[in-house]
Amino acid sequence: WSSETVAVVTGANRGIGFEISRQLAGHGLTVILTSRDTSVGLEAANVLQEGGFNVDVHQLDVLDPPSIKEFCDWIQEKYGFIDILVNNAGVNYNLGNDNSVEFSKQVISTNYYGTKNMIKAMIPMMRPSTAGARIVNVSSRLGKVNGRRNRIEDSALKEQLGDLDTLSEELIDRTLSTFLQQVEDGNWKSGGWPERFTDYSLSKLAVNAYTRLMAKELSDRPEGQKIYINCFCPGWVKTAMTGWAGNISAENGADTGVWLALLPDLAISGKFFAERREISF
Ligand code: NDP
Repeated sequence: WSSETVAVVTGANRGIGFEISRQLAGHGLTVILTSRDTSVGLEAANVLQEGGFNVDVHQLDVLDPPSIKEFCDWIQEKYGFIDILVNNAGVNYNLGNDNSVEFSKQVISTNYYGTKNMIKAMIPMMRPSTAGARIVNVSSRLGKVNGRRNRIEDSALKEQLGDLDTLSEELIDRTLSTFLQQVEDGNWKSGGWPERFTDYSLSKLAVNAYTRLMAKELSDRPEGQKIYINCFCPGWVKTAMTGWAGNISAENGADTGVWLALLPDLAISGKFFAERREISF
C-alpha cells in the first residue's frame, strides 16, 4: 500500500469512520474523508491534514442519489479509481425497542440501502490489482441471524436468509419492507423480529446478508480484478451513537476494519469479523 492507494470512507467526519480514516492515512494511503455535511467534513479533514496525513475530502450523503453521482464524477475526474471502500455511515436512534415509523425508515435506509447504494456506485470504479480491491462494511453483532437474544423467530425466513443458495437481494429487501409495513400498521411486535434495537438489528442483518451475496456475485472475477467484500463488528464503542457509553475507544473500534482493508493476503470474501477473527453470521 502507498499514497497511490485510494480509500473512501463514508460518514468519516466523526466516530469510528474518522478513526478508520486516520488509521488508513497513518499507513500512508490517500484517504477520501466523506461527510454529508460539507463544512463538518472540511473541519475533520483539516485535523488530519494538519497532522501531515494525505487526506482529501468530499461531500457525500449515502441516501442522496445526486450527491452519490456528484461524488463519483469527482472521483472519476480527480483519481480515476479507488482501491478501498469502507461503508461506515450509519444511524441508530432507538435506545430501546420502540421502532417509530420515522426512525425505523431512517435506520434501515441509511444502514442498509445507503451501504448498498455505495457498493453499486463504487464497484465499477474499483481499480484492478493483484492484492484485490476491498469493500469493508461496518456492521454489528446485533445483526446476527442467530443472535443469542436477538433472533428472528420465523425459522423458514431465518433459513432462507442464512443459506447462500436461497439468499437474494429481493429476499433481503422484502424482509425489510415487511418489517417496515408492520411498524406502519402498528403490529410489528407480533412479527417475530429480533427483540433488541429491532430496526437497527435488522438493518445490520441486511448488511451482513448483502455482504455474503455480493461476495458470491463478485467471486468469479478473474485474478487481478478481484474485489473482496467483508463486514465486521467494531464492538461497543464510545461514540455519539452510543452516547459515549461503549466500553472501547473509537480507535480500537476501527482496528478490525483497517486490518481487513489492508491485510496483504486477504483473499477472503463474504465473511464477518470481530477483533480480527472470523465470527459466524
Ligand atoms: P457516529 O454517530 O459517531 O457516526 C456516524 C456517522 O455516519 C456520522 O459521520 C454521520 O454523519 C454519518 N451518517 C449518518 N447518516 C449518513 C448519511 N445519510 N450519509 C452519510 N453519512 C451519514 O457513530 P459510530 O461512529 O459509532 O458509527 C459508525 C458505524 O459503526 C455505524 O455504521 C454504526 O452502526 C457502526 N457500529 C457502531 C457501534 C458502536 O458501538 N458505536 C457498534 C456496532 C456498529 P453526521 O455527523 O452528519 O450525522
